[in-house]
Amino acid sequence: MNEQTLVLIKPDGLKKSLTGNVLTRLSETKLEIVAAKITRVSRKLAEEHYYQMRDKPFFEELIKYIRGELHERRKVMAMVYWGEGAINKVRELAGATNPEEADPVSIRGAYGRITTRGVYENVIHTSRNTEEAEREIKLWFAPEEIILDLYPTKTELRKEQKVSVWA
Ligand code: ADP
Repeated sequence: MNEQTLVLIKPDGLKKSLTGNVLTRLSETKLEIVAAKITRVSRKLAEEHYYQMRDKPFFEELIKYIRGELHERRKVMAMVYWGEGAINKVRELAGATNPEEADPVSIRGAYGRITTRGVYENVIHTSRNTEEAEREIKLWFAPEEIILDLYPTKTELRKEQKVSVWA
């Protein structure tokens, strides 16, 4: 079954110049990239993305981490991968959440670390299941940023909205 999954290269991955390595590893899956961007992460976006972790003792550090406050990289690379079994294929290549427990040849096993403050710096995020993929993709991307019609859309007329255009 074709499906889609959100992949984020987190600020530690960007700081360590791992974008190329991660994309090369993910290309083994033969999945298609159907959306990609470099984006800043607002506190609201970070909190919504990780809302299930809100009661964890490391929540504040996690928010700082994904916003790039620990790596002087205030951005992440966000992508949507699409194709047969996308969710599990990417999760398998990513490896376990804890980089010390992850298979050493997985992305997190090879490049992740646990900081002395206890943050799992595990290089990438990837959706856990279909429901999470839908929630996360809709959080990170607008419909027109994705080249496939993945989910139903509706049209709204927005009046007097200020937008930037090239001068
Ligand atoms: P995954 O990213 O593998 O889907 P979770 O959704 O459980 O895992 O956790 C989200 C993120 O929170 C992890 O990727 C990791 O950066 C961080 N995290 C999870 N568990 C811990 C932990 N016990 N200690 C520190 N950070 C953690």
